[in-house]
Amino acid sequence: MTWEAYAIRYGRHDRPAQSNFLLPVADPHDAMPLDYFVWLLRNAEGHEIVVDTGFDAACAEKRGRTLNRSVGDSLRAMDCDPARVRDVVVTHLHYDHAGSIEIFSNAKIHIQDREMAFATGRHMCTGCIRVPFEADHVVSMVRALFADKVQFHDGEGQVAPGVTVHRVGGHSDGLQVVRVETARGPVVIASDAMHFYANGTTGNPFPIIFDLGAMTQGWRIARKLAGGDETRVIPGHDPAVRDRFQQVPGQNGEVVALHLPPVG
Ligand SMILES: [Zn+2]
Ligand SMILES: [Zn+2]
Repeated sequence: MTWEAYAIRYGRHDRPAQSNFLLPVADPHDAMPLDYFVWLLRNAEGHEIVVDTGFDAACAEKRGRTLNRSVGDSLRAMDCDPARVRDVVVTHLHYDHAGSIEIFSNAKIHIQDREMAFATGRHMCTGCIRVPFEADHVVSMVRALFADKVQFHDGEGQVAPGVTVHRVGGHSDGLQVVRVETARGPVVIASDAMHFYANGTTGNPFPIIFDLGAMTQGWRIARKLAGGDETRVIPGHDPAVRDRFQQVPGQNGEVVALHLPPVG
């Protein structure tokens, strides 16, 4: 079973380059904007899987981020009704990946055991680890759990034939990447296992880290899951993704097709 895979940008943040790397960079004050994405997977039978759920307008305002278009509207523009989606993968519970899960009212939410434990456990007593999380998002996950809408995974798991999740940890303890079979081979949505291409290619990590060793191994795991093809590893926040892949017509450059060969 092969799938179409789309990267959908819904927000952005202008920032200096040094904000995106742990180690010093040559030109720390150069502009290096960060994009916020969700991903839509769709097969010929109409099965839709949404990977991550983004942040909403209130969260954007609170954190000084730009919301270009809400995640719900972005999906509807791709002819995907959030209430119809059967499966939602939450790669991890950071604010920019786990908001608005209520709009997916009929979906199973796929998450790693360790991410739920992490977001509700002792490490949330530490401000610098807690800061990328929103209590409301975590509470929404607990509510979904008690409504029997959560599917837990421990390491590797299948969401549907041709779509699997793989825990890498590192950036957040239960961070998982998604591997999807496409017509051009397996594509790995790395999410925050690799924020920018440059984090992986230069070996300079993004500075939000729970386990540095796991984070660096995550780059290798993602590449291996993609069959060693760098063009099939999709970073979670790099604006270059929108240049490297074919734009979907009628989406103002906000959506690109990851299952088609790269163009740049
Ligand atoms: Zn994150
Ligand atoms: Zn993120």
